[in-house]
Amino acid sequence: MEKILIRIEDLERLALEKEDENYRFRRFLKNHADEEELDKQFKRLHEKYFKLYDCSKCRNCCKKLGISMNESELNKICEHLHLDKKKFIEDHLNEKYGNYSFKGTICQFLSDDNRCQISDCLPESCKEFPYTNKLERLFSLLSIVNHAKVCPVVYEILEELKKEYRFR
Ligand code: SF4
Ligand code: SF4
Repeated sequence: MEKILIRIEDLERLALEKEDENYRFRRFLKNHADEEELDKQFKRLHEKYFKLYDCSKCRNCCKKLGISMNESELNKICEHLHLDKKKFIEDHLNEKYGNYSFKGTICQFLSDDNRCQISDCLPESCKEFPYTNKLERLFSLLSIVNHAKVCPVVYEILEELKKEYRFR
């Protein structure tokens, strides 16, 4: 039977309803999960759900999480978009220890028709989000649980992991 995907407009409500449960599940994994096995499960589910969800139709992380970029990434972006770097920083960015983030949560590189204008030179933080295929997930469970409100793939992975671990 075809999997019914959750709708992006329902995600925040559903994730808030599951928030306490997800934090309990995090504690459960910390106490019971094998680190390497958990990484394999995350990677498998990451691949499964990114085949089902189309980021270009979602863009929730682009609207709700501030991206960050380092100096060299910012230079490439400014070159790509022909931006005046000094003015762009003044108007839109905060700088901390050589990393830049937007003053608000909506990414200024997202166009009105929901397209990323810098898909050819994405910063690492965009390429890697939500980090569910990375190693040592056992030590990053807090940020994964927090991202369930933003990313439908994270939400789905957590729900499926709960079934696999027979978590109640
Ligand atoms: S740079 Fe592109 S992918 Fe990254 S947050 Fe902005 S719009 Fe989204
Ligand atoms: S929130 Fe998740 S599914 Fe949506 S665009 Fe970002 S990474 Fe893709």
